[in-house]
Amino acid sequence: MSQFVVSARKYRPTTFKDVISQPHITTTLKNAIASGQLAHAFLFCGPRGVGKTTCARILAKAINCLQVTEAVEPCNQCTNCISLSNNSSMNVYELDAASNNSVEDIRDLVGQVRYAPQLGKYKIYIIDEVHMLSNAAFNAFLKTLEEPPSYALFILATTERHKILPTILSRCQIFNFNRIKIEDIVTQLQTIATQEAIPYEASALQLIAQKAEGAMRDALSMFDLMVTAVGAGGTITYAHARDHLQILDDDYYFKCTAAFLQGDIPAALSLYDAVLRAGFHGHHFVAGLGEHLRNLLVCKDSATLPLLEVTDNMRPRYAEYAAKCTVPFLVKALTRLNQCDMGYKASQHQRLHVELALIELATNHLPVPENRPVPAEPLSKSDGQKDHSLTKPIPKGPETITIPTLASLKSTLATKETSNDADVKKKK
Ligand SMILES: [Zn+2]
Repeated sequence: MSQFVVSARKYRPTTFKDVISQPHITTTLKNAIASGQLAHAFLFCGPRGVGKTTCARILAKAINCLQVTEAVEPCNQCTNCISLSNNSSMNVYELDAASNNSVEDIRDLVGQVRYAPQLGKYKIYIIDEVHMLSNAAFNAFLKTLEEPPSYALFILATTERHKILPTILSRCQIFNFNRIKIEDIVTQLQTIATQEAIPYEASALQLIAQKAEGAMRDALSMFDLMVTAVGAGGTITYAHARDHLQILDDDYYFKCTAAFLQGDIPAALSLYDAVLRAGFHGHHFVAGLGEHLRNLLVCKDSATLPLLEVTDNMRPRYAEYAAKCTVPFLVKALTRLNQCDMGYKASQHQRLHVELALIELATNHLPVPENRPVPAEPLSKSDGQKDHSLTKPIPKGPETITIPTLASLKSTLATKETSNDADVKKKK
């Protein structure tokens, strides 16, 4: 049996061009290497799983590589590159400050800086999660950072830039990493699935990418989990991904929004009950619903439309629902949900806490376009046998709101009259 290598490691980029979604960084780094104008200290900031450590290793490789390519990429074949790939390089030190944050750890590292490299031009120190260093450790480090020997290069990485001392910040060249776009994650997952000959449904990969929230590492771990879950030869389906990754389907949120718009309190409450019975956490639902309403809000204006982070196949549905909601409703709903989110942990009765918010949102005083309620999507279960005692009677409206023309109004009225006549006649 061959040994299983996690995708995050197996498909970790080894050249700048393979780094995803960070062209502004890779281009600048390559230019710096090509022109020989390398700073002595870099600070890589950005969310987790977006390629900070990967870029640090590629940079370390490229500056010590014996035969850098024309495109300023490490060759990945020379002895220096290979020893770095095998983690056996004497020129590269990696310190995880999350677990080694004491002043002694930094003194050890600083002590090594004194010796020039045996092979290659540079000694590279990569300090991950650098914001975790204790104050004493920061101070011990500062001196070295101020006057580093010509062969020393520091690459600091952090997810929390605001926790880094200004004295450190001012000595570093700062690079801000982007969250990875959903479509870029999907493309990468597709590439891997194809290479590994794993059949998949495109919507399943999109779901994984969405859940990863811009972190490629998370997406790859989820992908590996799915591969294990479906077994050899199995297809990664949307249903698999949804169930295994404990993802609350967008469907739930659309139905919930529809219930709000219709003023259908029972529908909103039974939906929440279904969510809880499916094993989801209430807090998770509140956060997801907030995200959903936020997505509807950004759909309301072409200026904010680029902020909509959903997959292409979901966009029409978001546009459709956004048209049904007014901006005041969405703002009010978001504010109420945010309040619910903040109070959730402190609440003694968390279920009721969420239910109250849902009831408020489904209460009819919320404005709806043209003062006309919009029909809710039918709920899969208990539909047709709903208790409407809490619901105000609602006339059936069309799926989408259109402004009627005078002519269409006239014809509608005419047909209504005739049908009324027909009813009267029938009764007679
Ligand atoms: Zn090389």
